[in-house]
Amino acid sequence: MHGAYRADSTPAGALRSVRSSSLEAAAAPTEQVREAEALAVEFRDATKTYPGAEAPAVDGLSLEVPAGEICVFVGPSGCGKTTAMRMVNRMVEISSGDILIGGESVRERSAAELRRHTGYVIQQIGLFPHRTIGENIATVPRLLGWDRDRTRARVAALVELIGLEPELADRYPAQLSGGQQQRVGVARALAANPEVMLMDEPFGAVDPINRERLQNEFLRLQAELRKTILFVTHDIDEAIKLGDRIAVLREGGRLAQYATPAELLMAPADDFVEDFVGADRALKRLALLRVGDIDLWQAPLAFTGQATSEVRAKLAGAEVPYALLVDGDRRPLGWLSESDLACETVPSRPDSSPDPLLDLDDVMRDALSDLLQAESQYAPVVDAGGKIAGVLSVEIVSDFLTSEEEALTDEDRAAAEHGAAEV
Ligand code: ADP
Ligand code: MG
Repeated sequence: MHGAYRADSTPAGALRSVRSSSLEAAAAPTEQVREAEALAVEFRDATKTYPGAEAPAVDGLSLEVPAGEICVFVGPSGCGKTTAMRMVNRMVEISSGDILIGGESVRERSAAELRRHTGYVIQQIGLFPHRTIGENIATVPRLLGWDRDRTRARVAALVELIGLEPELADRYPAQLSGGQQQRVGVARALAANPEVMLMDEPFGAVDPINRERLQNEFLRLQAELRKTILFVTHDIDEAIKLGDRIAVLREGGRLAQYATPAELLMAPADDFVEDFVGADRALKRLALLRVGDIDLWQAPLAFTGQATSEVRAKLAGAEVPYALLVDGDRRPLGWLSESDLACETVPSRPDSSPDPLLDLDDVMRDALSDLLQAESQYAPVVDAGGKIAGVLSVEIVSDFLTSEEEALTDEDRAAAEHGAAEV
């Protein structure tokens, strides 16, 4: 069995290592998912000049990624994102400067040992086609010499964590969809509990709908795992959605701005960043908001069996000119039409469904897109228990964006610019 896990030309092959540390061997299987402590990563004037190249690929990069945060490197093709990331685990050797993981220089650790403690995920996934999903996920634990029970427990925990059906662990990569394979790639990188995750355009080859799903899952996973993650993308929208902080790189591997998504959108450091962030900055801010962050409207509620005259009375002067039928637990069942209200009492089945049904937790940009896609004027918003919390409309979103622009006083702008300049 062990013979199957040879060194390989894939990145997972590069993770190959020789011995297990006593700490890892001692850990109880049930604690495996959370055992490793996240560590901060600091670039100190890190520079890479490839042999024969006239100019550096990464030039004097200095920034600090706090432990447990996602830092997204974003910028046009060839600006040095992959190079910057690969210097962290010495897949690319640093020419000058340094990178510290948890305060310790990567230069003082062996490349093999470093890679063992770094999870690496790439766009091409790189799953081994002739090994099952379970065997793929078990790659690094096997190389570390974990025993069979511990490895099996770890694989099962990860399969569950990434939301795959347990029986898929016995299938082969080609039998899974692209999105499922990508999740397995993430699980494999997480298998040996890395200190740092390096993710290089991991969702780049996935279609837009699955990409959005994978991004959401990724955020859900991260909320649970709190890894320190360096994530590369050329897609500014992805950067804004996923990053706690964003490092915008420009030609020649120079750092143009390092800031939170909000700071980046409010106060781009220069014309390059402003162009890169794009003209629709207001719309992008919606990616930072949840539906519950803004004031929703209220629709008159109606209950089955209630006199329709009561409902019609409530409709006069209501914020939302339609009545929403809810059940005994105030969960939306649908909108009542004119003909529904023509009867004496409120029916149990309304004319139109409550879809799109939104959640207080939904990202505003996704909620708006659901509204637009459903060609619906209003959408009920429910809380975690499914109870009606309010109603969202396109008008609310557009009013919100306008008022926010106006509320952004000169003072705020100055503060945002100052904040952006500080880092
Ligand atoms: P990005 O990931 O942002 O597209 P890269 O880090 O891959 O950028 O590349 C940055 C620059 O370094 C590019 O000009 C690229 O051609 C060059 N480069 C990347 N890898 C190598 C290499 N192994 N040898 C020589 N030059 C390289
Ligand atoms: Mg790249």
